[in-house]
Amino acid sequence: LSRVTAKHGARPALTFQITSGPKDHSVTMTWEQVLARVTQAANLLRRMGVGEKDTVAYLLPNSLETAVVLLAGTTAGIVNPINPLLEPEQIAAILRETKAKVLVTLKSFPKSDIAQKAAEAVKHAPNVKTILEVDLNRYLTAPKSWIVPFLRPKTHFRHHADVYDFNTACDGQPADKLVFEDAKTDRVAAYFHTGGTTGMPKVAQHKYSGMVYNGWLGGTLLFRHTDVMICPLPLFHVFAAYPILMSAIHSGAHVVFPTPAGYRGEGVFDNFWKLIERWQVTFLITVPTAIAALMQRKVDADISSLRTAISGSAPLPVELYNRFKDATGVEICEGYGLTEATCLVSINPVDGPKKVGSVGIPLPYSHVRILRKTEAGFLECAADEVGEICVANPGVFEGSTYTEVDKNHDLFAEERFLRTGDLGRIDPDGYLWITGRAKDLIIRGGHNIDPAEIEEALLAHPAIAFAGAIGQPDAFAGELPCAYVELVKDATITPDELMAHAKRHIHERAAVPKHIEVLDELPKTAVGKIFKPELRKRAIVRVL
Ligand code: ATP
Repeated sequence: LSRVTAKHGARPALTFQITSGPKDHSVTMTWEQVLARVTQAANLLRRMGVGEKDTVAYLLPNSLETAVVLLAGTTAGIVNPINPLLEPEQIAAILRETKAKVLVTLKSFPKSDIAQKAAEAVKHAPNVKTILEVDLNRYLTAPKSWIVPFLRPKTHFRHHADVYDFNTACDGQPADKLVFEDAKTDRVAAYFHTGGTTGMPKVAQHKYSGMVYNGWLGGTLLFRHTDVMICPLPLFHVFAAYPILMSAIHSGAHVVFPTPAGYRGEGVFDNFWKLIERWQVTFLITVPTAIAALMQRKVDADISSLRTAISGSAPLPVELYNRFKDATGVEICEGYGLTEATCLVSINPVDGPKKVGSVGIPLPYSHVRILRKTEAGFLECAADEVGEICVANPGVFEGSTYTEVDKNHDLFAEERFLRTGDLGRIDPDGYLWITGRAKDLIIRGGHNIDPAEIEEALLAHPAIAFAGAIGQPDAFAGELPCAYVELVKDATITPDELMAHAKRHIHERAAVPKHIEVLDELPKTAVGKIFKPELRKRAIVRVL
């Protein structure tokens, strides 16, 4: 931060744009302001007794304060972002597990139940001694000056922790220097959770070096200080935290976070094309379901500033890539990463040859091997042969040692090569292709079916906006493929048409779903991945 401030201090660093509501509100901080506020927040945390090994959790939607807490938490102690979509019991369990001393959360805000969830969770997490509340109302009332003194009314929530207003408390702290020695050694600086796409989220310990590595990758290979990124992803997930925020710190690029008033993404895409024009965005950073949602809105602004879009986190159907290119003239670079590796692993080159459908070439210092487990140990697969993707890079975590059960055995193949649980192959040109997820495969009578194949075929139909395929239990075959779809707004399709389309587009007969159902809305995780456990539950109830 000091380095970027020395070079680009007066340039815009972070913008949070509240997109819903009658007025268009935005708040921007320059790099100088970010550095000053992060210094104040880190000083505050230390004065509140947070040591290098203590945890500062946050349960927040995206806001300037969220970015500040993320950075200050890693400076003063260990930061632990928590997904606000979780239920209070799950939040409490995480707070107890990470032994969080401080929780930064939202003050009551219309359309958001975060404050209530936090209060409920803290009741069952006696280790949380202090709550710092972020008041988002000030975004709506006084957006011109970003620091607005705020007098806290008495809170009506009952629990054991002391409550302070985050901004007021920060205001009183020194902004020019840290009041403690900055321990930028190779220490654990964050606990991040995986997206929970396949089950309960798993925790990953991230070292300071892994964060810096991700920032260095994005900041040297992808972004320059003249770039403007737009990122509709939550700051409690690694994608927004590292390749975006850390890369911006490394490069001096400006990041615009379109922030819905709630945290479930309501209204986030309503003015999206206009935001690209307004902020002269050069990079769109997002996930496939967000691209699918955007493709339902006509491009109604001048988006000629847009240079590239980056997609990761879930498979990007070729059909969606083509639709986006036709609508915007921009190519999407697909990349691959995972929480256990701090984040980035590979990406298609921004300015070089892309292979659509692949996740690109391993990034510098990222070593990817395709391995096959045999009784004799792990064997290397040949070019184009499918096996488990195993990764070693400076971001790969060391495990989740603080969890009750030691889940670390079997996490690594050998010599720190992380077993990702993803299946894939490397082609003779060195591009990585993901062919499935070991945990996600549908196994029909011993035959492996990749749900992504079914989803991609269904998404080729213009009436289908989102698709999720899973294995439904079957007494004879073990599992049978079954799919759920969400339609494009105002589109209609009959069950017969749907099945006929599936049969035409899915070449392997065994992979044609036995059952396809239209839902009003598919369940999605916080980063927009189709939430498969919910679909599995639905299928079980139906076949019971
Ligand atoms: P959980 O591991 O708890 O089930 P999750 O998979 O959502 O949740 P993340 O760390 O958020 O956890 O996501 C990493 C996973 O996302 C990878 O292991 C991989 O399966 C998938 N993934 C990431 N990028 C891509 C991509 N471009 N194409 C296909 N899959 C991807």
